[in-house]
Amino acid sequence: MQKQPYDYSRAIEIAPRIWWVGYVIPDDPFQCHVYLIENGDESILIDPGSRLTWSGTREKILEVIPLEKIKYIICHHQDPDITTAIEELINEIGTEGRLLVTHWRTATLFKHYKWGLDFYEVDENRWRLKAGERRLEFVFTPYMHFAGNICTYDPKTGILFSSDIFGAFTDSFKLYADDAKLYFEQMKLFHTHYMPSREIVNHGMDAIEEKRIEMIAPQHGSIIPKSMVSYLISRLRKLDVGIYLQFIGCKNVRRLTKANEILSKMFEQVTFTTTTVYEKIGNIIMLINELFCLEMIICISSVDGRVVTFDSSISHPIDTDLNEKSLYSAIEKVLAEDDRVYRTDRIPGTNLRKNYLVFPFVTYNEQNSANGVCYFLFSEEEIIDEQDIEILKSFRKLFSIMLMKEIGYYRMQKERRELLDKTITDNLTRLYNRNYLDDIGPKELSKAKRYGYHLGVVMLDLDNFKKINDTYGHDAGDAVLKDFARFLYRNLRDGDFLFRYGGEEFLILMPFTTAEDAFHIIERLRKMLKKKGTANSNIDPKIDYTFSAGIVEYNDEKSIEQLIKKADTLLYKAKREGRNRSAMG
Ligand code: GH3
Ligand code: MG
Ligand code: MG
Repeated sequence: MQKQPYDYSRAIEIAPRIWWVGYVIPDDPFQCHVYLIENGDESILIDPGSRLTWSGTREKILEVIPLEKIKYIICHHQDPDITTAIEELINEIGTEGRLLVTHWRTATLFKHYKWGLDFYEVDENRWRLKAGERRLEFVFTPYMHFAGNICTYDPKTGILFSSDIFGAFTDSFKLYADDAKLYFEQMKLFHTHYMPSREIVNHGMDAIEEKRIEMIAPQHGSIIPKSMVSYLISRLRKLDVGIYLQFIGCKNVRRLTKANEILSKMFEQVTFTTTTVYEKIGNIIMLINELFCLEMIICISSVDGRVVTFDSSISHPIDTDLNEKSLYSAIEKVLAEDDRVYRTDRIPGTNLRKNYLVFPFVTYNEQNSANGVCYFLFSEEEIIDEQDIEILKSFRKLFSIMLMKEIGYYRMQKERRELLDKTITDNLTRLYNRNYLDDIGPKELSKAKRYGYHLGVVMLDLDNFKKINDTYGHDAGDAVLKDFARFLYRNLRDGDFLFRYGGEEFLILMPFTTAEDAFHIIERLRKMLKKKGTANSNIDPKIDYTFSAGIVEYNDEKSIEQLIKKADTLLYKAKREGRNRSAMG
């Protein structure tokens, strides 16, 4: 094989006496190839081409043979880019003694051209043609892309003249493909758009793979050398073809094919992946960004009377200030404007003012009515036209499905959280109760043990609490407990666990804290409480109260109970020593 680039103004011999006689149309991603088998008086021209390219092809044939030597004209299917040159050719050399080689389905259409050529129908001739020394075989590949489509196979050279299969849209003209992966990408566009279904493609591949293939010469794209054949066949077999959707008004094949590809990947994301909706939305944005510069997607939906947003920039659902009424008026506004709007006013519930596309989505649990809106936010520079809107609109159903799933999940989580909250929180103080201590205590102990960090344990008890009850009444006692709980909760660190252990007893687990550090923390709290008393709470009159504490740290105790017991013993020591103090062990 010669090294590229070739002189495309000349006929190029791709195998002994087999010539590429195509014509390179400048800047056209859709090049059409014509091949000539030099075969004496029985030479064969394969897919002669179009009127647009005929003059170039004619010159090239003449470099090899006089036109009159062409006896057989093979037409793999009936499209004008294959057939319109025939008229020019036969005007010059006549029809006498020449045969149009094709399939019967194609022949029935060719009759209408009234060329006067006789047909050689391959299906009537055991899918073979004997032309002098040369014997050609034909592979029936129906619906790829024409009902009676065929390919030609030359056993002598192992070349498959594959017609539309293995064709591609290429950015720049290359006679031979030299990068299998890149070529497949270019083929993909062509096949997802042209081929009706994977079953049909695989049926054709089965027939093709029965041949010993040395080279594939398609009508479009580039010639494929043997080294790439098995890779391309195996990729083609798995390609998602036949998902071509008709986007109204959009004729840009590249864009449509890309949109299809994205749609199919999005479908996969939504249906098969177990990631959260935020990861999904993030992945989907990445996919869509192959076509548009999309910055963010915000979906606002009503869930059980609350308005919740699913925002691709935040990793959890957030409750908004919006009420259902304003959400529904936003939806109605969108619906009134024919399903979709592209605009730049403010997005409800946010301060965002950007170019965005908005559409309603439906969750199917209620009366099939829209109950949410999706906002696709673009970067400032992006220009979205009507065709783009059609493409984006087709993503809507997927979003509805995705959010429907997510809303169900959100509901379930919410119920579970509420139930859990009920079982692990104390009614009066809203602190964790002993149920949660039973759950988290052993876990914290084993973490401290395994990773070797300190775990401080503090047992607190209000001093002379009975007296408070007796003096001010039980309700005031309750109020003091609540006040103390809130005081502790506000002044402890996030990582500390705070429990109401018993009546007026509280327990604190402090990971990463020694007993000494815990002691300082507690003494600081004591000072703060002294200053505060029940001031700032709604207890009237102000009640000054104090607490005692027993403080320990984890030191190879067998269980959390053992550790708590030690803290409790120290607490009683503090009580004995006069209350309003801490004892540390
Ligand atoms: P000490 O300083 O030794 O801890 O004395 P104390 O009075 O605080 O301790 P004692 O254990 O004698 O009394 C605790 C009291 O707390 C008895 C109980 O009625 C009261 N109590 C327990 N739970 C609650 C509650 O939920 N609300 C109110 N108001 N009082 C409670
Ligand atoms: Mg007490
Ligand atoms: Mg007590």
